[in-house]
Amino acid sequence: MAVRLEDYREVAPPGAVDFLYRLSERVKGTSMLNVNSTKYGGGVAEILHRLIPMLNEVGVQARWEVIQGADEFYACTKAFHNALQGTEQAITQKMLDAYVETNRENAKRLLLDANVMLIHDPQPAALIDYRTVGKWIWRCHIDASQPVRRVWNFIRQYVVKYDAAVFSLPRFAQRLPISQFLVYPSIDPLSDKNRDLTEAEVDAHLGRLNVPRDKPILLQVSRFDRFKDPVGVIRAYRLVKKHNDCRLVLAGGGAADDPEGKAVLAEVQAAAGEDPDIHALELPPDAHLAINALQRAATIVLQKSTKEGFGLTVAEAMWKGKPVIGGAAGGITAQIIYDVTGYTVNSVEGAAFRIRHLLNNPDVREKMGQDAKEYVRQSFLITRHLRDYLTLMYAVVNSG
Ligand code: UDP
Repeated sequence: MAVRLEDYREVAPPGAVDFLYRLSERVKGTSMLNVNSTKYGGGVAEILHRLIPMLNEVGVQARWEVIQGADEFYACTKAFHNALQGTEQAITQKMLDAYVETNRENAKRLLLDANVMLIHDPQPAALIDYRTVGKWIWRCHIDASQPVRRVWNFIRQYVVKYDAAVFSLPRFAQRLPISQFLVYPSIDPLSDKNRDLTEAEVDAHLGRLNVPRDKPILLQVSRFDRFKDPVGVIRAYRLVKKHNDCRLVLAGGGAADDPEGKAVLAEVQAAAGEDPDIHALELPPDAHLAINALQRAATIVLQKSTKEGFGLTVAEAMWKGKPVIGGAAGGITAQIIYDVTGYTVNSVEGAAFRIRHLLNNPDVREKMGQDAKEYVRQSFLITRHLRDYLTLMYAVVNSG
């Protein structure tokens, strides 16, 4: 049965649902088009799958389109992604031409007609050149705290043509002549990724994944991407393993717009070697229940990213009452309150130290997990996200 806004009364903070009904009166009938670059894989798609039906339920006419391109385009946009997160990249004129041309072709294919256009990340940013109607908002989900300037300046020439930009952290805001807003991403507590599961369901999923529940499980769920530092996770596990017996599960899949996943998975498999307690799982994009079960079965969840836009996997784990040890990067720092909901770390050794501390202190784990869940309830549920987007729409539609 489809989830309705009413159903969130049980999980969201008191008053949140009523507030949404009131606020939505202000934007009823407004049309909104979201454009991103993949239907599956990664946090942006994860959120849009849930937010679009909710926007429609409260009276916004929300649509979602995906930009399409050839290999050269994705090679270029992945390089943009890496460069905006601070890693120097070789980007050729041919790649830039593919970027511009792909946006031009998509502008012809897509119906760019709505009161509010929400354009996600760099891939479709150049669609702004084909603007005819509506207010245009550029939604940046990546960790743009220290971008390679040359690449940021290329993207910036498009961003300045928008009416507003939205970032996931104050620290990501840029010098721009347009309005900038802060919106934290969110998780949906009623989706298959996050809804309650019985112990029997968790057992069944772990059985299918061939992950025994015979010892503590350390888990990282992530696309196989170097910024997520899966090899660093394996190194931390190895330090821990000298003292504490445990398993490590690295669960991830590819995203349709990410050409580097296979190479990173190969690096992970090489680092894992023949260790039977390391499980590198390649999951299909719709493995929501399996990931939910892994997060529930985990003793400690890791997200050892070196750069991170937000890191939905952190909130997902916290919602399941797990303490999270995460890299001190991007949005992870907004979710992990140090020593309260988990630990942020800056090194393999730091991660190993905190893993051992939590493995050895079940009471601390338990209390942190409870506090983590309440923090997510207050700050990172989809009801709060919907509130922010409705407010944002109201603000831009009514601005001059
Ligand atoms: N995810 C998934 N399958 C995978 C890897 C990740 O469903 O194999 C989900 C994960 O549960 C989370 C999202 O994809 O909801 C990743 O979002 P996050 O913000 O953590 O990272 P991103 O991939 O957007 O950089």
